[in-house]
Amino acid sequence: MVVNNFQIEVDNERLLRFLGSSGNKNVSPAVQQKIDRFSDRLEELVTPRINFKLKPLASVKKDGVLLHDQTWLKSPKLSRTFRSAKKVCFFIATIGHDLERKVSECMEKNRYADAYVLDAMGSLVVENVTDQFHLRMERYYQARGQAVTLRFSPGYCDWSLREQPDVFNQFEDPGNLGVTLSNTCLMTPRKSVSGVFGIVPKNGDQTIADYNPCTNCSKTNCIARRG
Ligand code: SF4
Repeated sequence: MVVNNFQIEVDNERLLRFLGSSGNKNVSPAVQQKIDRFSDRLEELVTPRINFKLKPLASVKKDGVLLHDQTWLKSPKLSRTFRSAKKVCFFIATIGHDLERKVSECMEKNRYADAYVLDAMGSLVVENVTDQFHLRMERYYQARGQAVTLRFSPGYCDWSLREQPDVFNQFEDPGNLGVTLSNTCLMTPRKSVSGVFGIVPKNGDQTIADYNPCTNCSKTNCIARRG
């Protein structure tokens, strides 16, 4: 099912941090001007859409999870997170091609700072759209006495990027969003996010849905760390 009614939002604090602001140090007026200019144009540059598919789980093993169609998602951390899940939700999110075309256009005109700012904004918009979808699903299942787990994407944590095709294969028409997969498992447009989260019965046990593998993980410099 494809969903497309998302707010177009950029987490301004994260954007400024990404662009070099820290503590009392602000971004330069020139960078702020670029942010303001592109913020005004974001609506015409992004088309957020998410395709999602629910699938029942066959079993959860120690080092991965198995679907009924024999798809095996190999990741001990994903397995631990999904240990009580009855089904999972696969998704592919994208903001489309236009923003990336604009970034390429800026590069061709040697406007590298413009390209950098716009590219960063695109990354944050697609993350935000994915968060909006995840939150919407959480609310939907909460109203039905269930919960959702944290989301995982191939290439992050201990789930290999090589398993990206397993996400795409869950969809009858994975290309209907205009997102394609290269033979190195990278998505085009780049401003796309794929992944999966579990749906679990709550049974009064909040910790099932709230389990976060990062809490006990020693990789302190991990860019995907949560919480
Ligand atoms: S910090 Fe979190 S996301 Fe990163 S490897 Fe550890 S468990 Fe995975």
